[in-house]
Amino acid sequence: MTQSLISEHTAQAISPIDGALIAEVPMATVSDVEAAVVIARNAFENWSSQTPVERANVLQACAAQMRAVAGEVARALTLESGKPLMEAEFEVAAAADVFDYYASLARTRGGRLAPQATPTSTSLVIKEPLGVVGAILPWNYPLLLWSWKAAPALAAGNTIIAKPSPETMLSLPLLVAALDLPEGVHQILQGGADIGEALVLSRGIDKIAFTGSSAVGKKILALCAQDAKRCSVEMSGHDAMIVWDDVDLDLAVEAALFAKFANNGQVCTAAERFFVRDTIVDEFTAKLAVRMSALLVGDPLAPGTDVGPLASFAHQARLVDYCRRAREAGAEFLLGGEPIDGAGAYFQPTLIRGLNHEQINELGEIFGPVAPIVPIATFEEGIAYANDNRFGLSCNVLVGDLGLAMKAAWELKVGTVWINNPLPDNYAAPFGGFREAGLGRELGEEGFDAYTEAKHVWIEHGLTSQPHWYSERRL
Ligand code: NAD
Repeated sequence: MTQSLISEHTAQAISPIDGALIAEVPMATVSDVEAAVVIARNAFENWSSQTPVERANVLQACAAQMRAVAGEVARALTLESGKPLMEAEFEVAAAADVFDYYASLARTRGGRLAPQATPTSTSLVIKEPLGVVGAILPWNYPLLLWSWKAAPALAAGNTIIAKPSPETMLSLPLLVAALDLPEGVHQILQGGADIGEALVLSRGIDKIAFTGSSAVGKKILALCAQDAKRCSVEMSGHDAMIVWDDVDLDLAVEAALFAKFANNGQVCTAAERFFVRDTIVDEFTAKLAVRMSALLVGDPLAPGTDVGPLASFAHQARLVDYCRRAREAGAEFLLGGEPIDGAGAYFQPTLIRGLNHEQINELGEIFGPVAPIVPIATFEEGIAYANDNRFGLSCNVLVGDLGLAMKAAWELKVGTVWINNPLPDNYAAPFGGFREAGLGRELGEEGFDAYTEAKHVWIEHGLTSQPHWYSERRL
């Protein structure tokens, strides 16, 4: 059973596919937040006292329950976000896999025995759940990025209150309604910045897990600091792809296409700055233009569609503004640059060149289907450009030479380096950003520990007088 607290106030869920109203969604009020916190704190008593194996069994069952409703949930996700149905199906499947991963981790990951400080003592390191977690979610992967928080938080014994983005309010409640979780262990509150902020400020919430923009993430960090509230933030990206001249050019173009157009460029780790060896840059750009022109942009529910609309009309307006600013900076538009006429929030696949890496940095995060190409003379230049950015979420490198690949692996100052295969997740490895891309890590063992507090217990094997005690000092 899960619970959603609601009020009379509703918000409209508008599909970016055609601008149609898909649902009126009841919004929470700020007072609902405190009511939800009371429920979550009560539920914490029982949930945290279950054994890890008991909780793991519940999570594993949740994974199966998600798979059972995958079709219905994926359709809702496509309707609300515009992502092609195949990508929505992948997202539901991936969220279920994350629950499976953390179910198995919960069975094996305990505290530890620290090396003895003295021969007559034992030091235990106990990992305890934090309490109630507030999860504040973005619209680009409303289910996957929820699972990265909910699965480890629940596996570690916390209860959770999730707040979806107002842009994507439908798929998560549908998915969570199918889960057989104990009463109050998982709640959903719908709302915007006001509800997000109320979660952050609530004294009854022990940790905030946020994914979204750097601007909002930094505000949340500052608010959490007031009470030393635990907080992890996954924020914006402005990631690079380095393309070297010793790889198959057609395959490099396919890799670039995926790194740019998966979820229509609305991936925090999407390639947003292409640094291509000058000896191949013209041929690479020409081939990329051909493949971009062949992308099927259209109804995300139709089979065969490569790219759907952007996730919202507001985001379409942001992309229009990005292209205007790029034009003013002197960009040459080889393809696209405009919204596509019609009822949906569509945008043309866009290819630009003529800007240097500083100008591209100045324009900031794109988060959409615009690919800027910059030539590089040396591999070192590519690494330097990739690192010279406020954000440091990830970098893709297409290179054949092992020495250069390893150089990239060591020298790139980013949270994830993908060599010759853009963007796959490994749930067992940490994900997060350097610099302004984030603080903390999700996924892997790190992503589990992020929902625990470490406690050291010193056990003296008997009450005997110690040399540093006052009684001993006087002797
Ligand atoms: P956003 O920051 O506008 O909103 C994210 C969430 O925060 C939403 O639920 C929103 O309602 C809430 N929110 C807004 N203002 C708030 C406030 N003052 N206090 C508390 N909560 C508040 O981001 P978005 O537009 O939903 O998502 C796009 C951004 O997310 C991009 O910048 C993208 O790079 C980033 N992102 C990062 C990752 C990552 O893992 N690093 C993953 C996905 C998206």
